Amino acid sequence: MDRSDHLSFLNRKEGHLLSTIVQKFGGTSVGSTERIKRMAEKIIQEKSKGHDVVAVVSAMGKTTDALVKLVSEITSEPSKREMDMLLSTGEQVTISLLTMALQQQGVEAISFTGWQAGVRTDSILGNAHIQAIETGRIKSELNVGRVVVVAGFQGITEEGDISTLGRGGSDITAAALASALKADRCDIYTDVDGVYTSDPRFVKKASKITSLSYVDMQNLAVMGAGVLHPRAIKHAKKFGIPLYIKSSFENVGGTLIHGKIKQNGPIPVFGVTFEKDIHRVEMFECEDVEGFREAFMSELSSRHIQGDVYIQRCRNSLSLLIKKQDLHEVLSILEKEKDKWKYSRIEERSNLSKVSVIGGDMKGRSEIKVGVCRMLLESGVRVKLIGESSISVTAVIEKSHVQSAVECLHTGFGLDYKDTLKASV
Ligand code: ADP
Ligand code: ASP
Ligand code: MG
Repeated sequence: MDRSDHLSFLNRKEGHLLSTIVQKFGGTSVGSTERIKRMAEKIIQEKSKGHDVVAVVSAMGKTTDALVKLVSEITSEPSKREMDMLLSTGEQVTISLLTMALQQQGVEAISFTGWQAGVRTDSILGNAHIQAIETGRIKSELNVGRVVVVAGFQGITEEGDISTLGRGGSDITAAALASALKADRCDIYTDVDGVYTSDPRFVKKASKITSLSYVDMQNLAVMGAGVLHPRAIKHAKKFGIPLYIKSSFENVGGTLIHGKIKQNGPIPVFGVTFEKDIHRVEMFECEDVEGFREAFMSELSSRHIQGDVYIQRCRNSLSLLIKKQDLHEVLSILEKEKDKWKYSRIEERSNLSKVSVIGGDMKGRSEIKVGVCRMLLESGVRVKLIGESSISVTAVIEKSHVQSAVECLHTGFGLDYKDTLKASV
């Protein structure tokens, strides 16, 4: 028995898999067969250290977007069931190719779709939530020494239909599997080398954050930092699984996300996030604006649609800010319930963006909100709406201003690369 066999043996003897690592590879990381072979090497490296390895993969490159485009050539109102049936195929291509790449290197491996891996979800197709993972089949494959390659972003409903978890959902699969298997770590391989103070492709002076608590990462992700799906963090946090965000292409340290309580640093604001494509839907002359708000929010949440709902009393109206992808569904809910919710008309507005500054504890720190307004004004950005919570201040602006808004807030709150180096001395 060599060292790695010995380690696995000891771990199994204790009744659970102590040295299980989940590795997740995003779309760009598996964007070509060459890249798939490179990712296979990363799996082999972990395997050769004696770990049991479960790999979770996304569809290759922009495959999912290409599938969505195919649908638009056929219908503007696809059935959700067929949509999920189609979108789930992208990941299925990657699992089989990656498994073949591993087998080609002499490593025993097996691929599983979401349902084969036991990923059970609720029935909200297109945005399903994982309810449980039956890990029996995965564990028995790990026990005989195989690498298990699982299709991210998908599961199966109680009715037996294939469901998808929402765009970017492979992160959720990886973190949920890591929790279900009580893995030691969940490594998220992607096309940037960690989590930054803002999207590094957008803000050249963004700086890398090497360590973040679950809560802080959750706040960044919920407010738009697309590097990790917010629901992935919830799953990891439940069982304290460390998430490590790292580059698929460069061998440099990444960002560790963990459960340790954050020490309050000198800078209360640690990130600037944005959502480029926001839509506003406003319902006018509502008879019972409070009742409408409550019923509407509960309808949105039953469909897992996230949105900010504001009452504007002076106009007796209700405003909703939502992502572009949810617009169609929201408008059809409103149309269906028009008689019940009693509003006179709807106005829709596109080309809006949301910019947020994120901090640890902003309660009672009105100077942050004042600072956001001042900085945006000085940069010539008109604020259409401003909101605050204990972790963020968010401004709604014209989409054409998003770049200058994000850059000015990043600089203004001392997050530019050189400034953060000074602050951490
Ligand atoms: P994957 O396909 O690997 O899941 P994603 O495109 O979903 O990759 O996420 C990685 C992208 O997230 C990066 O290319 C980057 O542009 C974007 N991003 C947004 N905000 C941040 C941030 N704060 N830190 C790092 N990357 C970010
Ligand atoms: N392929 C899916 C998407 O493009 C899921 C993922 O990549 O995480 O959204
Ligand atoms: Mg992603």
